[in-house]
Amino acid sequence: MEELPSLPPVEPFRIKVVEAIHLLPAPEREAALRRAHFNLFNLSSDEIYIDLLTDSGTSAMSDRQWSALMLGDESYAGSRNFRRFEETVRGITGFPYLLPTHQGRAAENIFFSSMVKRGDIIPNNMHFDTTQEHVRRNGAVPMNAVVREAYDSRSEHPFKGNMDTALLEKILRDQKGKVPLVMMTLTNNTGGGQPASLENLREVSALCRKVGVPLYLDMCRWAENAYFIRTREAGMSEHSIREIGKEIFALADGATMSAKKDGLVNIGGFVATRDEKLFERMRELLIVYEGFPTYGGLARRDLEAMAVGLEEAMGLDYLEHRTAQVAYLGHLLETADIPFMHPPGGHGIYLDAGAFLPHLSRENLPGQTLSIELYREGGVRTVEIGGVMFGEGKDLRERLELVRLAIPRRVYTASHLSYVAETVKRVWERRASLRGCRMVSATESLRHFTAHFEPL
Ligand SMILES: *Cc1c(COP(=O)(O)O)cnc(C)c1O
Repeated sequence: MEELPSLPPVEPFRIKVVEAIHLLPAPEREAALRRAHFNLFNLSSDEIYIDLLTDSGTSAMSDRQWSALMLGDESYAGSRNFRRFEETVRGITGFPYLLPTHQGRAAENIFFSSMVKRGDIIPNNMHFDTTQEHVRRNGAVPMNAVVREAYDSRSEHPFKGNMDTALLEKILRDQKGKVPLVMMTLTNNTGGGQPASLENLREVSALCRKVGVPLYLDMCRWAENAYFIRTREAGMSEHSIREIGKEIFALADGATMSAKKDGLVNIGGFVATRDEKLFERMRELLIVYEGFPTYGGLARRDLEAMAVGLEEAMGLDYLEHRTAQVAYLGHLLETADIPFMHPPGGHGIYLDAGAFLPHLSRENLPGQTLSIELYREGGVRTVEIGGVMFGEGKDLRERLELVRLAIPRRVYTASHLSYVAETVKRVWERRASLRGCRMVSATESLRHFTAHFEPL
């Protein structure tokens, strides 16, 4: 693995517009927690100092993207912005058929509703929460087939997002006729923002092609994944992100995308395919749920900003800084022996809450407890990825209990990250005193967004 950097990475941008943030005094944070029923999704943004809840739609747009918004051609049909967006995505992915959506889950809705039927099985390296929900809502069963190292936070495996190809082969054999598609999530968000290697993608693609099952990518963080391929995979260091992308996309039949990640926009997404018939089915649903196919639930100016963002996300200065920022935060935590998912991922550090709070049982929700405590300590908002988010997914509940510190793109500087590391350290020092919490109310699906908690 590459050395963790000890010097703060220097931002490859200067700041043109600022947004004030403020740390509330401790008693006010306490009151906010109570009012939010200890669910950090219920906090208002004014109550938060550093917001690491998600990297989704929280990016700072560049001056070029803001000026692209002024080129909005708000025609209902046939907008110029759509053409630019289409050319950009086709150029990057090579997928001929393309539908814009308002965000990733809208693409998932249209895609899974068109591809999946009751009783089907969907293998994925690891399902993300909304992906899993769309699979389930269409009556199919999500199955995670990531490599075993993904569950070991200490393992330094450089590609913990890899599919376990022996397991995938077995699923394809045992469940013959029941698997309408295989999906690979780049990077593996649920398991720590960990990438898959090009070698692994080639093997997965070959297995799929052998049995005639299409391979689709959840390409939300494909550029970050490609950067890890460039820096970690043998023989790839001279290849541009665009070239690596070409190789990745050539192995697949299509993709869903939340451009709120590697599209560097605050809203937007798409679904893409090589399958004309599928495209026609999806287009029908798009018109019902999102809008006309040349805008798909977005203002046309958003398509223009997305086209610029998709290009910027491939920039080497940008990607080098982004991954160095995450690694830097990892380095600061490592010096205090704080357990997190190794190696540092593409979009955040994932604390290993099970190892952080080993005296708490799974029922006492160590991940949720830790994320509450980080807010209480320093006004830092994070998200639990463990028993609360994936309670029903048995394998995850048994094996991963994480707290994600997601780094928004181009938003925070190295000193913000130092502050975050100090906050984590202060909680680490008093970890033995933490008592856990319990869930007092929850909805059936995607319960982490709305559940209420109570400290023990
Ligand atoms: C964010 C995300 C999605 C869903 O995208 P939204 O834009 O939030 O609807 C799907 N898959 C992965 C891996 C994600 O990170």
